[in-house]
Amino acid sequence: MSTQFITEGWTKLEVPELARFRTRAGDYAPSLAPVFYNPHMELCRDISVSAVQVLADELGSIRFCDPLAGVGVRGLRYAKEVKGNVTVVVNDRSREAFELIKRNVELNGLTSIVDARNEDANVLLLGGRGKFDFVDLDPFGSPAPFVDAACAALARRGMLAVTATDTAPLSGTHARACLRRYGAKPLKTEYCHELGIRILIGFAQRVAGKHELALAPVLAHATRHYFRVYMRARRGARRADELLAQQGYVSHCNACGRRRFTQGMATGLPSSCECGSRFAHAGPLWLGRLMDRTIVHKVAGDLVERNFKLGQQELVLLNRCAEEADGPPAFYDVHEVARRAGVSPPKIVELIAKLREVSYFASRTHFSGTGFRTDAPIDELVKIFKCA
Ligand SMILES: [Zn+2]
Repeated sequence: MSTQFITEGWTKLEVPELARFRTRAGDYAPSLAPVFYNPHMELCRDISVSAVQVLADELGSIRFCDPLAGVGVRGLRYAKEVKGNVTVVVNDRSREAFELIKRNVELNGLTSIVDARNEDANVLLLGGRGKFDFVDLDPFGSPAPFVDAACAALARRGMLAVTATDTAPLSGTHARACLRRYGAKPLKTEYCHELGIRILIGFAQRVAGKHELALAPVLAHATRHYFRVYMRARRGARRADELLAQQGYVSHCNACGRRRFTQGMATGLPSSCECGSRFAHAGPLWLGRLMDRTIVHKVAGDLVERNFKLGQQELVLLNRCAEEADGPPAFYDVHEVARRAGVSPPKIVELIAKLREVSYFASRTHFSGTGFRTDAPIDELVKIFKCA
């Protein structure tokens, strides 16, 4: 395999020669390379470094596991860039990846704190290597096959981070694949990416429930290519039950745009909307908060100090996340509501000010540049749009 050297964050890496792996259209295709490294995920990994730092600061020391490591970029970046007492297990089942990981460990002078492994991810996590404070599931595709073992390996007060690149199933393009992998029904709506992230969280929480573990999301973000969630673990059957009680269903009316939320798994779902049309449903999924505003601010604060190349973009994203943290599920799209009201769309900033004036929650959302989050019902919104 021909390789090249790059620097990401403060870490040097030997990676497959990127120019050699392209689709016919000319885009870089990391999945074609013999060892996985996706340069387009740098933003996601920068934010992760800061998230791990925030956790390390709180716990004092941190034991970390990157079970699907590829070239080892995540684990090595945490080992190199997170300040404090950090020990890391970096693992990939591919022999070629393992050889590359070992060279990257040497390259960064990390032999004393990184344990490189060459095992199946689930075998590693279940293999009695002790508990981990942070487990990062960053597979190519769906993380679903690894969540159970990750929960089993998670320490009390630990954190589970999950990346999903199978955004099409989660967002409703391949509903059967979503049902098969995550046990939930997705729905194509203007906020389908948010529903996808909520389905991913809901799935992880139900798996964690088997281990009497409660996983509360503290940060979640979506781009076109992937979803990323960070969930804080607490032990205890009661805590797990309390979280699971915040799962449920979103019912959406395509005719008028109304949304209904039904908490709980066993309750009946509304079949028809006030407008007379039938509701379509998504779930079971997480209906609670996607972010913990305090944690998001701490992560952003750490990022500012690091001065990463993509720092500005990362801060814009995190500030949006903090802004929408306390909002209700299912954001609206300004064009969609304007179309229903038969008017041209107002400026989002003005709309948000207007909604806050009449005491509704209102914020922008990181999910969409034309999206806004509010607890105002659709009929109210249409009225406000018509007045504006
Ligand atoms: Zn309706």
